[in-house]
Amino acid sequence: MRVQGIPASPGISLGPAFLYVPESLPIPRATLPPEAATAEWTRLEAALALAHAQIAALRDVVAWRTSPEEAAIFDAHLLMLHDEELLADIRRFIYDHHLPAEAAVADAIAAVHAQLLAIEDEYLRARAGDMQDIGQRVIACLMGKPVHLLSALAEPSIIVARDLLPSDTAALDPAKALGLVIELGGPTAHTAILARQMGIPAVVAAPAITTQVADALQAGFPMLVVDGEKGIVEVNPTTEQLAHYTALREHHVRAHATIAATALQPSLSADGFYVPVVANIGQPRDLTQIAPGSVPGVGLFRTEFLFLERNSPPTEAEQVAAYATVGRFFADGEIIIRTLDIGGDKLLPYLPMHHEENPFLGVRGLRLCLTEQFLPLFRSQLRAILRAATQGFHFKVMFPMVNNAEELRQARAVADEVARALDAEGVAASAALARLPFGAMIETPAAALNVDLLATAADFFSIGTNDLTQYILAIDRMNPFMARHYTPFAPPVLRAIYTAITAAHANGKKIGMCGEMASDRRAVPLLLGLGLDELSVAPHAIGEIKHVIRQQTLPATSEIMRQAYRLDTAEAVVTLLESHLRASEPLARHD
Ligand code: PEP
Ligand code: MG
Repeated sequence: MRVQGIPASPGISLGPAFLYVPESLPIPRATLPPEAATAEWTRLEAALALAHAQIAALRDVVAWRTSPEEAAIFDAHLLMLHDEELLADIRRFIYDHHLPAEAAVADAIAAVHAQLLAIEDEYLRARAGDMQDIGQRVIACLMGKPVHLLSALAEPSIIVARDLLPSDTAALDPAKALGLVIELGGPTAHTAILARQMGIPAVVAAPAITTQVADALQAGFPMLVVDGEKGIVEVNPTTEQLAHYTALREHHVRAHATIAATALQPSLSADGFYVPVVANIGQPRDLTQIAPGSVPGVGLFRTEFLFLERNSPPTEAEQVAAYATVGRFFADGEIIIRTLDIGGDKLLPYLPMHHEENPFLGVRGLRLCLTEQFLPLFRSQLRAILRAATQGFHFKVMFPMVNNAEELRQARAVADEVARALDAEGVAASAALARLPFGAMIETPAAALNVDLLATAADFFSIGTNDLTQYILAIDRMNPFMARHYTPFAPPVLRAIYTAITAAHANGKKIGMCGEMASDRRAVPLLLGLGLDELSVAPHAIGEIKHVIRQQTLPATSEIMRQAYRLDTAEAVVTLLESHLRASEPLARHD
């Protein structure tokens, strides 16, 4: 069965489905009449049989993918599932306490769980988690709902979810997460960006995928194919489809390896112009995705990810260490550190925020950092950046969600104040601050129309097309129903980009792009034609974007830009760009 979604992270992957249902199931507890007990027990027996079948299948899949040793844990689960004492407890709760089977299982498991936790032996204590896992599985089977925890991803799987928080995605182990299929969201939701960053093929806005997979799970363990290039998900593919996608995956891996192998070549156009390509990162660990020497620096360090995957804010020292790690990796290159961009779809678990009807239009990014509640966090980040900057790295600071010059002046004033405080503590922060360029993201229509005025308070600019597209088109970047229309190739977005670049250059300022558009190979000729100064791209796209740059001549890109500018639909722009790429791009792709 085929589901058509939106491609969100390239690559093809095949594997068993793992349905992620984060909310815990409400357990029915109403006391039942004594005569209902036998029917409850029969229901329980059926659920135990289904749970047994699921665990046995899981064991076989893990044994097939890894080794029988890895799979042995599921044999232990099967033994625990049929443990006589456990079953006697459940029976007692059903027959003597007149509880529904779900509540009987929950209470019996809770008791065993507590006993196991109290045991000295570390191995047995560790079985407490397995007990809970089994309990949840049986309860889910009783209720006809498959339930899993993302953290319990035991085997390499394709994760299917209605939605995932960026922090869920960031916590994924790329070795276990073979692919991601999300029912909601759009291609520039942060979950999709992270998937690209981690090299996990992903499809978003896949209609009703969770229901389809839930149904398939009732019958066994469905296999999925995720085509992150075309946005296709195949549930339980046929043998022919499997063969087709296996061949496609091999082709993709080979093409990717060819391009990656050329990532170290300079990003010179065919007629010899240097077009700087730098990287987008969210964590120091993303540096492992970047071949040393392939890019000279970072055009967007999304620092909020240092703050997201945890239950309390990072200390100043932890932040200094993170900034310095990136600084050391690019000892001679420039690193644009974007200050905290919290809000929208990026929420901190440890700092309560007001519910907002339209959070992307609300208190997010720099606006949030300048509120009284967030100023301490903002100050701590600026302190950490300044302290790391005293080690001599070439940092630049960039603010997100800027609308006007006044916000920039306020942010700079906080940096000045923080530097003075650090000076008093004996850190030469004001000297470091004097060397630090300050920039603004151009990601709101206000900013794009205002670049000449922002230029009075900013040293450089970077266009964030992910947000700019949603605000120019009035299409929420997370909205699955509008995802097909959310595209930076739409003529109004191209006009906003053109306006911003022209105004920046007229005011003597450099302007790059760090939105996902810069990582889209189709956009490259257009962006060169528009005269963009720098492309900051996701690590996985470095080789490909440099490869496309090397096929272009600047006069040809100016001509493409002029032609694209006259077209009145995004589809026509994309068709033009694709045919231009086909003409200039020797490496065949599967589309
Ligand atoms: C953007 O909006 O294009 C951008 C780079 O910022 P983010 O995706 O983190 O919102
Ligand atoms: Mg943004």
